[in-house]
Amino acid sequence: MTLTEKLLARAAGKASVTAGDNVWVNADVLMTHDVCGPGTIGVFKREFGENAKVWDRDRIVIIPDHYIFTADSKSNRNVDILRDFVREQGIPYFYDVIDDPNGSWKFDEKKGNMQRQHGSHYAGVCHTALPQKGHTRPGEILFGTDSHTCMAGAFNQFATGIGNTDAGFVMGTGKLLLKVPETMHFRLEGKMQPGVMAKDIILHIIGEIGFDGATYRAMQFDGPGASALTMDDRMTIANMAIEAGGKNGVFEFDAKTEEMVNHRTRLNGTRSTYETVERDADEKFSYELVVDLDKLEPTVACHPDPGKRKLAKEMDVKLDRAYIGSCTGGKTSDFIEFAMIVRGKSVKIDTFGVPATPEIVHDLQSTYWGDKTVWQVLADAGVRMTENSGCAACLGGPVDTFGRMNEGGLKCISATNRNFPGRMGHKESQVFLASPATVAASAITGRITDPRELVS
Ligand code: SF4
Repeated sequence: MTLTEKLLARAAGKASVTAGDNVWVNADVLMTHDVCGPGTIGVFKREFGENAKVWDRDRIVIIPDHYIFTADSKSNRNVDILRDFVREQGIPYFYDVIDDPNGSWKFDEKKGNMQRQHGSHYAGVCHTALPQKGHTRPGEILFGTDSHTCMAGAFNQFATGIGNTDAGFVMGTGKLLLKVPETMHFRLEGKMQPGVMAKDIILHIIGEIGFDGATYRAMQFDGPGASALTMDDRMTIANMAIEAGGKNGVFEFDAKTEEMVNHRTRLNGTRSTYETVERDADEKFSYELVVDLDKLEPTVACHPDPGKRKLAKEMDVKLDRAYIGSCTGGKTSDFIEFAMIVRGKSVKIDTFGVPATPEIVHDLQSTYWGDKTVWQVLADAGVRMTENSGCAACLGGPVDTFGRMNEGGLKCISATNRNFPGRMGHKESQVFLASPATVAASAITGRITDPRELVS
């Protein structure tokens, strides 16, 4: 069996499964957020009754993160619905934007979009927050009402996005009927060269197979190149499995996985026991690709889909703005790479920085390079850094969303993961996906730029 088949077989209580089998799977964690949480709760109450209790309150994690820092009252109400439900059910893992469980969040005009407008429990973007808060464990099944839930596959678990109807069912029963996907095999060999990042690996792969090339299939990443990647790198790659249509992305377990999971579960007092899955000798794959990391170059996915691959060095595109943030590209390591390029320079176009979580804001504000923090280095270069971590303009959002593209015709280079028309706001704007290093170099020149031109 492949890693995904082993994970699903165990969760189904079976000795083995093969691709195409339909199996009832036990969930370990169900995650939802402010966009899909209210709908999921509505389905749950409709199907199980107004007074029904969730299947296991300790296994439901609720993370508001999408449309948070906005004066839009409908978006604010969504978070209020989550808060009421959490109180009613006694759910412990709710990362509210405010500290008062009986309060309600209001946009503070005086603080605006840049200064912190959240309380001490707020966790930021759900996919980045899940591992930080100790909710990702090897061997487990994670369902989330968000397509990029697949990011947690970096931790040797089966993680996938599901719709509100399925999530309402999981909320009531802790189970879901799943068809076992076929597995595509991506063996990573060699080592990335300077200026190349994990984002380039996944953009290369999606360019190779197309934005629907992995539809309802598992994407397994392994080999010596995968072992050499950091956990942040693996998260970037697993996150974008869905951009090829993948059901999930999955990595092997190793000492790096163990160190991060053990540290994070201990820090947060979450469940710390788990059972990993390892590779079998008889794995059957529906597709195989060897990626030589030594040969990869900074890569861009052009408008209008993540499969439109080009090399940055071959492009001549004038830009209007740059954006670094999101679950994919808003981690501490992403900002560090970005800051190393913009340090001592000035951005030429509007450039927005949105750390994925408050912990990342803290990292950047407390890490010193000489007498300046990384945050100051970024601000001095002209990057508009917000302390309000979250999804922000990655998904467009209400018109007052920080970094949203409100005008047609704008071209943005972005460290995010999706670039279908209208993704970051106006439907006639264009988004080019790239690594934080390529976004940084492009912000400096105002054109899509290979970061190797700016770093030695
Ligand atoms: S940061 Fe973007 S891709 Fe990630 S969860 Fe938020 S909207 Fe989705």
